[in-house]
Amino acid sequence: MQRIAVDMDGVIADITEQFFLYDEKDFGKRKLLEEVMGIKELEAFPHSRKYVYRKGFFRTAPVVKDSREIVSELNKLYEVFIVSAATEFPQSLSEKQEWLNEHFPFIQWQQIVFCGLKTIIDADIMIDDHFKNLDHFTGSTLLFSQPHNLHQNEGRHKRVHSWKEIASHLL
Ligand SMILES: [Mg+2]
Repeated sequence: MQRIAVDMDGVIADITEQFFLYDEKDFGKRKLLEEVMGIKELEAFPHSRKYVYRKGFFRTAPVVKDSREIVSELNKLYEVFIVSAATEFPQSLSEKQEWLNEHFPFIQWQQIVFCGLKTIIDADIMIDDHFKNLDHFTGSTLLFSQPHNLHQNEGRHKRVHSWKEIASHLL
C-alpha cells in the first residue's frame, strides 16, 4: 500500500477562511479574495501570527470542501497519514487532535503525525500547500492551491485546486 502524507492547515483545515473570519471579527470588514491572492499569509493577514495563538483558532477551523469524503475514500486504498508541523504552536496540538476526531473520525491516532520540520517525513505521496514542505520530499508531490501560493510556479509539483481534482488523480 502506498503512503500518503496529507497536510492539515490549508489542505483539510481551511485556515485561509479562518484568517478571513478572524480578520473580519477584528476589523468589521471581510477582505476580498483578490486582496490576498499571491501574497504570503503574513502579509495578506498581518495579524495572523496573533490569531494562531488565540484559543480555539485551530479547533474551530472550517473543513476544506470535499476533503472529508475524499480522504475517507483514500483511507481505504492507501496508508493515509495526517502530517502537521504542529509543534510550532504547542497549544494547537490538542485542538488539532480534537478537530481531527470530530471531522475525520475514521483517522486513527496512529495515523496522526504532529511534527516540526517535515523533512523527516517519508512517504510515497505528499499533499501540501507549502513549497518549503514539498521541495524536500522525494516522492510525488501535490501542491494544494491556496491564495498564498497562487502566483508561484509549481515547478516539479503537480498543482491541484480542489479535493475533487485530487480524487481524479488518486482514486
Ligand atoms: Mg499547510
